[in-house]
Amino acid sequence: MTDKYDVVILGAGTAGLSAALSLGRAMRRTLVLDGGPPRNAPSEHAHNLFTRDGTPPDELLRLGKRDLEKYETIEVREGVATGATGADGEFEVTLDGGEAVSARKIVIATGLSDVMPDIPGFAEAWGRGIYHCPFCHGWEVRGRPLAVYGSGDMVMFRVALIRNWSRDLIAITDGTEVPEEIRRKLDALGVPLHESPISRVESDGEGLARVVLEDGTEIEREGLFTNPPLEQRSGVAETLGCETEYMEMMRAEVISITPGTFETTVKGVFVAGDAGKMMQSLANAVASGCSVGAFVTHELAAADVEAEVAAISA
Ligand SMILES: Cc1cc2nc3c(=O)[nH]c(=O)nc-3n(C[C@H](O)[C@H](O)[C@H](O)COP(=O)(O)OP(=O)(O)OC[C@H]3O[C@@H](n4cnc5c(N)ncnc54)[C@H](O)[C@@H]3O)c2cc1C
Repeated sequence: MTDKYDVVILGAGTAGLSAALSLGRAMRRTLVLDGGPPRNAPSEHAHNLFTRDGTPPDELLRLGKRDLEKYETIEVREGVATGATGADGEFEVTLDGGEAVSARKIVIATGLSDVMPDIPGFAEAWGRGIYHCPFCHGWEVRGRPLAVYGSGDMVMFRVALIRNWSRDLIAITDGTEVPEEIRRKLDALGVPLHESPISRVESDGEGLARVVLEDGTEIEREGLFTNPPLEQRSGVAETLGCETEYMEMMRAEVISITPGTFETTVKGVFVAGDAGKMMQSLANAVASGCSVGAFVTHELAAADVEAEVAAISA
């Protein structure tokens, strides 16, 4: 067991590093646990991020870590958090090597995992032809032959959004029913509808080449937009007893937070980035990390004042 930290941040992705910067600069002794690659690691470049548009994901985090080096208040250590116990002011986090660290506050910045469907070729093309987010990757495939894929009742929602980037668009459903009104709208827009699920996806050296449907249809496409379900990357919030909730639109199980403060249902445990109930993007990961840093600092500073006053008055 090491000395107590003010804050231990689980995860050294964009949200975790942003929270660390904010806390370290606020004179708080902060440990960041770096558990491995971020969610966008399969992509060649990160987009839609102020001043860093087009930066490779590993370079983004290298720059983030480099910024932290000058602060003696911040320690970044490789390690996966496996569990946590305790209460506000007195937490203990266990690492995969068996070591434990103690901290007054915990920031969960462990992100989400995209659950890959059992479709041959899908995982290989993920982030390189198959995308979940047009705001991240739409510009790169603008005007190209694209497809949307998902359940029948959501097909119009996806078509309306992706049409924004390309009119060479087809809709493929997973075999679930497509309401009649949606059929009429797709027909009016001239968007071909395929109701046989995808059986495999083929890539070439450049990216996505074609999708093959269960009925044998082969369709050449350069981009496929779909949103696989998302699950928590780490179970630590669960071991602490933090409540979670399902975000239908994102198909994601996320940690519930108090809007504004980013505190979970467990006092002293905060969330930054994708793991919490918020919009999932790098910019939001930065913003939430920065906000969490400020709120945690307020709480620690207030507790320090109380303790100091009590000691003087004793
Ligand atoms: C393919 C793809 C491409 C994307 N492209 C873009 C884009 O261009 N622009 C954009 O704005 N958004 C993009 N996103 C979304 C973006 O990746 C996320 O919103 C962002 O990564 C969230 O940051 P985060 O810090 O919350 O999580 P992450 O970046 O996933 O970081 C979480 C970190 O926590 C670590 N970790 C997990 N469990 C533990 C543990 N138990 N202990 C210690 N560490 C742990 C992980 O290893 C990881 O390093 C993309 C997503 C995908 C899937």
